[in-house]
Amino acid sequence: MQLYEMSAYALAGMIKNKSVSCLEVTQAFIKRIEETNDTLNSFLTKTFDSALKKAALLDKKLAAGEDIGALGGVVYALKDNICAKDVRTTCSSKILENYISPYSSCVYERLDKAGAVLIGKVDMDEFAMGASNENSAFNTVKNPYDLTRVPGGSSGASAVSVASMQAAFALGSDTGGSVRTPAAFCALTGFKPTYGTVSRYGLVAFASSLDQIGTLTRDISDAALVMNVIAGHDKRDSTSLNYKPFDYTAFLQKDLKGIKIGVDRNCLSSGVDEDTIKAYENTIDVFTSCGAEIVEVSFKMLEYVVPVYYLIACSEASSNLARYDGIRYGVRAEGNSPEEIIVNSRSKGFGKEVKRRIMLGTYALSSGYYDAYYNKALKARRLIKDDFYKVLDKCDAYLCPTTPSPAYKIGEKTEDFLSMYIADIFTVTANLAGVPAVSFNAGKNKDGLPIGMQLSSKALNEEVLFKAVYNYQLAADWHKMRPCI
Ligand code: GLN
Repeated sequence: MQLYEMSAYALAGMIKNKSVSCLEVTQAFIKRIEETNDTLNSFLTKTFDSALKKAALLDKKLAAGEDIGALGGVVYALKDNICAKDVRTTCSSKILENYISPYSSCVYERLDKAGAVLIGKVDMDEFAMGASNENSAFNTVKNPYDLTRVPGGSSGASAVSVASMQAAFALGSDTGGSVRTPAAFCALTGFKPTYGTVSRYGLVAFASSLDQIGTLTRDISDAALVMNVIAGHDKRDSTSLNYKPFDYTAFLQKDLKGIKIGVDRNCLSSGVDEDTIKAYENTIDVFTSCGAEIVEVSFKMLEYVVPVYYLIACSEASSNLARYDGIRYGVRAEGNSPEEIIVNSRSKGFGKEVKRRIMLGTYALSSGYYDAYYNKALKARRLIKDDFYKVLDKCDAYLCPTTPSPAYKIGEKTEDFLSMYIADIFTVTANLAGVPAVSFNAGKNKDGLPIGMQLSSKALNEEVLFKAVYNYQLAADWHKMRPCI
């Protein structure tokens, strides 16, 4: 087995017991990136020099008998909307093409302190708006299970980097499914934590009441390891929860006795394809064999979640993205007046999807329409949360597919953006309700493409999700699927 094929957990252990050096591990991943990146297009900025320096420093520390941290020497990638000081942060947008971050995000600081080695920044949908990674202003990122297909989005290249073994783990952001959708399309475990448990300080804002940083890993044990490092209160994010930090690794316990998994077959009529339905039934069987109790539930508000999400997400985006005017932030275009500079900078700097959302959001927030759209969406969000909590009163975790179907062809849905929005039907509820959700690989379709299933629970009940997926991955080994590259 090559070093780059190993889980973060295995690597951290081998480095600690000195079976391998940090430098060897970093070099192995660099070589893998050099071999595969021209095909996959995942990296926007490579930080090989600083990675090698850090690895050498960690080796020195190890030799001196010092503690190098829980993730000492483990190589990872960051979605390009998460800041690391003095490294380019583009959000895959032309408007930030040359933006060098003057400060680090909280998650980067914590990972750095825990010894993790940043290998580079990876592509995404522009400003995290999208579900296929096709809205990047820069690259066409490929799915490592089928190079003619999308990797999912918006944290598409974060998923690709882990699935293709260019990094041991990656961070993404999840506003409406952007960690879970690419995890589903690339056979990974994608975890979106409870809103407020991971600091958003240094994450470029898309829709602040929904945004949450999450993990893309090979399995749930790696997610626990990373969450132990990045989660916890941070006073620089005003929505950060001040709670007693969890030990996520303590949740990885065998046995699901007494755990109720809520199964909702009504949700399958929302355009779910045949192979995904089969995988759903198989997943139920695996949970049953692990000792979980299956209870039938029905989430009635499901049909409203997509419109409510898009109204809120676009409204918040139109406000958050106002700062990119070529004056305060962003590449400045020519113009004879401040107005002209702003109009030209924004017209040239933003791509089609970002413009569409700014216009939708600005309309929904405008004085004549605020009550009819934005305010109404806020009220509906409350009802959705209440209804989802009623479902979660009957079970510990709610099971549904992550996406209605697996990865589609590159270009297949680019002209039909509404069909892409509708495919977010299973992921946006967790963001609207602020609850945790995890996507895990649970099969493959007849073309060999990964199929993701999702579990969600009440806020701060991550324990049940980690436990359930841990038991699932002990019983079924779909997380061990390997890409074609
Ligand atoms: N597909 C969703 C959207 O386009 C998800 C985005 C996200 O989670 N960042 O808004």
